[in-house]
Amino acid sequence: MKQKRGKKIVKPQTITKAVTHIRMIEANPGKLAALDDLALVYLALCQEYVTFFCTEELPDGFRDTIFVTPLSERWHRVAIQQAAGIARSWRTNRGNAYQDYLDELADYREQHAEGTLDAEANEPTWHEWDVPTLQQTCIQANINVVALEPSEDSCFDYWLKISSLEFRKLLFVPVKLADYHRQALEGKTINTSVQLNKRDGTWWLTLSYDEVVLVQTEPDAPVVGIDVGIANFVTTSNGKHYGTFHGKLRERQKRDREKRRRKAKLRQCLEKKGAKSLPSTRSKSGQRLIRHVRQEINRAVNQCFAEHPAAQFAYEQLSVATMKHKARAMNAYMRASNLAHIPEQIAWNAAKRGVQATRVKSAYSSQECQRCHYPDQANRPDQQTFWCVVCGFQSHADLNAAVNIERRAGDIALQLCKDRKAVKSLLMQRHEAWRKRHGWP
Ligand SMILES: [Zn+2]
Repeated sequence: MKQKRGKKIVKPQTITKAVTHIRMIEANPGKLAALDDLALVYLALCQEYVTFFCTEELPDGFRDTIFVTPLSERWHRVAIQQAAGIARSWRTNRGNAYQDYLDELADYREQHAEGTLDAEANEPTWHEWDVPTLQQTCIQANINVVALEPSEDSCFDYWLKISSLEFRKLLFVPVKLADYHRQALEGKTINTSVQLNKRDGTWWLTLSYDEVVLVQTEPDAPVVGIDVGIANFVTTSNGKHYGTFHGKLRERQKRDREKRRRKAKLRQCLEKKGAKSLPSTRSKSGQRLIRHVRQEINRAVNQCFAEHPAAQFAYEQLSVATMKHKARAMNAYMRASNLAHIPEQIAWNAAKRGVQATRVKSAYSSQECQRCHYPDQANRPDQQTFWCVVCGFQSHADLNAAVNIERRAGDIALQLCKDRKAVKSLLMQRHEAWRKRHGWP
């Protein structure tokens, strides 16, 4: 069918929503005890694979089985998948922390060479992370081992059919929904994978469903370019800023960093004296700070979307190199993961609101001159300033980048460039064309 001009773009996006805290009831005494027994064996096996995937091999959810267990083959597969997921995120977090350590070490050596080192400062040290231990009872099951079936009986909403440790014997656990669960699930198709958690002696069920959100954006809706960064989490091409890492967050981070340094020093001291128990260098306040930064990012992105109800957005597909470059102003361990959180939030906000958001290439977006297209690191005399060395165009650096990103939304030639080099030569061609048009020497 031909698409009429001016017709809305209808492109569905799928998002997964969780419905948590559904209490599992014990219909007959001993029923959930069988689940407890199963969980015990399951977690022990899952732990074996977590350790294996963290220390021996890269995580692979479809790996052949290697450990012996009384669990069925199907349960065994579920354990491997869950363990692979846990090991993957542990490896990522450890990798980031190690990178941060290397950065801190580089900072330290640089300051040492310059003679600007604090008298108090110690060389940063790396303490190898422990492999994660599964302390909470959490089972991420799929339909091969746990099935949800509507109940004929009006007392309950569903039956949860769980394969047990005993061969071919199923546990039937009744599930009763609260009113707000029922509302949330009304008319939805529940996903077949479910999560079972035990907390303080009670078993809880988490269900999820996929929601399809139609993109409602008009095809001719104005494009707003978004540049993401540290000084400003979000800068739009119409010159608005949302959220910042500077100010309060940076103060908090400095305090936290000092605290960690003192702790590390104390640890070193105690270690020398042969103390058996050492204070942990993991910082609770550091974890809180990371959560806080994420909340601030979420708030900033939310506000940006709320203030541009009729727009569509263009934002950068951040590469590791771009993130490192952008995060230069940010002190060590807060960096890359938080920067990556910003585009994730943009994508999520667009999906749930049904707004068109296009990811564009990030190569040279902060170095390209929006007037003459000349791409050069020299156009950036400092973090905040853009000043073109050819045509003299001046702007706030983030704003110049946001305008470039806005234009890249419909720039097919640029989207087709296969790497940074190709982007640069395209921009140089455009620069030459600009020179000719304007009679530039
Ligand atoms: Zn220029």
